[in-house]
Amino acid sequence: MTATITPSIHLTRIYDTLIETYGEMHNEPNYDPLGGLIGTILSQHTSDINSGRAYRQLVDTYATWEEVRDAPTNKVADAIRSGGLANVKAPRIQDVLHTLTEQQQDQGGTKALAEFLYDEIQKFTPEEGWKYLQKLPGVGPKTSACVMLFNMNEAIMPIDTHVHRVSKRLGLIGPKVNANQAHTVFAKIAPPDWVYGLHVGMIRHGRQVCHAQRPKCGECPLYQECAYVGSVNAQETGAS
Ligand code: SF4
Repeated sequence: MTATITPSIHLTRIYDTLIETYGEMHNEPNYDPLGGLIGTILSQHTSDINSGRAYRQLVDTYATWEEVRDAPTNKVADAIRSGGLANVKAPRIQDVLHTLTEQQQDQGGTKALAEFLYDEIQKFTPEEGWKYLQKLPGVGPKTSACVMLFNMNEAIMPIDTHVHRVSKRLGLIGPKVNANQAHTVFAKIAPPDWVYGLHVGMIRHGRQVCHAQRPKCGECPLYQECAYVGSVNAQETGAS
């Protein structure tokens, strides 16, 4: 059962401003965590366009994830070449598929791997599912959170570089909280229904206004909520 979270006034103003500025955000989950996981691995260190192309090429080349698992690694790398770092990502993808296969064998199951992973995640709470995915080889907190949020529609906040920077400047997380710790902070402060909107809104804000270098504070709709420019302080934001 998901705990009820009452958001702070500070977070409420930020959420409302993000929605007003960047529009309502709607998640469109496909409940395919394995496809999402492999797509997220492909998206590491490249653009969405390149990783999307690599994913399509991979699923056009192989009809099932079992075929990807059993193919020669250099052939899988060829199929995902357009996504960059193909020689790193191909063995990483196959490692994940082999690990899931072993997990299923240990349970004596025979499902397709995609179905197996979906069913495994369903056994857990969202937080446990997020942790479970991180036990797969090469899967870190952000990749795991992306799968839980985008594919499984669970309220786990992925913390990428934009979300981390913006949430720190706004005082939603303390100055010393690293990206991995921030996942846990958001689980405590953000109502589950807001997580998708906050995530997408903060990424847009980070890309368009709150740049890492020379943020456009003079035209920022969140100026009044920002700890970085001194509009609010730690007592008001509750961040530590
Ligand atoms: S006021 Fe500046 S630092 Fe603060 S959120 Fe806006 S752009 Fe970022």
